[in-house]
Amino acid sequence: MVKETQLQVEAIRNGTVIDHIPANMGIKILKLFRMHKSEQRITMGLNLPSSALGTKDLIKIENLYLTEEQANQLALYAPNATVNQITEYKVADKLTLELPEVIEGVFACPNSNCISHGEPVESKFRVIVKNGVIQLKCFYCEKVFSREIMTEIR
Ligand SMILES: [Zn+2]
Repeated sequence: MVKETQLQVEAIRNGTVIDHIPANMGIKILKLFRMHKSEQRITMGLNLPSSALGTKDLIKIENLYLTEEQANQLALYAPNATVNQITEYKVADKLTLELPEVIEGVFACPNSNCISHGEPVESKFRVIVKNGVIQLKCFYCEKVFSREIMTEIR
């Protein structure tokens, strides 16, 4: 019985496996891509042991594939994550994560005086990496914020 359960967790026929997510980011990523709203079976591993990260999160979602744009967004949260697209139990494609130059419509500007709040415009940030730290610069108010303080528009 133990073996069967393991198999269910470890192998998916078709879908996406996102591995090497920093611990505690898994649920955030799930929500970011609205995966939890999908009807597909999702298997998550939280705080799994990882030789590279100490602990990591892992998401397996069946019958769903990330677009390149989604993979780039993922890079904002988990730059070192690996994304494997599975077809018939085999890795059909490995997506390379690249930070997007611009990110639109995902985060709200933390500056409450920013014009983007009052206008019917999509939020828009330029992605800046300084000494390995990801920062976002608002197109409208031109203020710079660290990725950690950003909240998603929902
Ligand atoms: Zn702004």
